[in-house]
Amino acid sequence: MPTTKLISGYRRFREKFDSEHEVFERLAEEGQNPKVLWIGCSDSRVVPELITGADPGELFDVRNIANVVPPAGSAACATGAAVEYAVIHLKVSHIVVCGHTECGGIKALETPPDPNSQPHIASWLELARPARDQVLDTDVPEADRYLETIKTNVLMQCENLRSYPCVAAGEQSGGLSIHPWLYDLRTGRILAFDEGAARWDAVAEQQP
Ligand SMILES: [Zn+2]
Repeated sequence: MPTTKLISGYRRFREKFDSEHEVFERLAEEGQNPKVLWIGCSDSRVVPELITGADPGELFDVRNIANVVPPAGSAACATGAAVEYAVIHLKVSHIVVCGHTECGGIKALETPPDPNSQPHIASWLELARPARDQVLDTDVPEADRYLETIKTNVLMQCENLRSYPCVAAGEQSGGLSIHPWLYDLRTGRILAFDEGAARWDAVAEQQP
């Protein structure tokens, strides 16, 4: 995407900004009040606002390679800071952890990058490695391991979320819900993990 495309897109946005000025003015005047913290992958194909139709002000986004939540107390604290801010200050009611098919970060667990030339990637991916190790400990067929690791990683990152006292307290009080999701790049569908049934189900596309 050349810069000229970014700038022509920006011009279209400026027109929208002017025609919907009241909306943007209200956002500036009233501050943000999102109800959802979205923790997703940095992958350019997984665009939370596109998938969910969320408007500005509705999603507090954190995106990083492989939608990781380092456990509380970890040296990598950028995601944890966003979690605390969203839960304690913005008082979100929902946290979505959304993984996706064809995730390059999870794929890289199979052939780890050279820690000398890519020390940050190598170090970051170690936060997702327990998901691969867990899958390797099962009898999941080799052909299914990649997708199973993607799913397991989402569930593990949800568990890591619960290591933050503010998240654990929010869940206990009933004011905060965690949603493990998986976005399928090929079908555009979202699967959600049903903890009671211990399975991934398609999110209903029809209005109930
Ligand atoms: Zn990814």
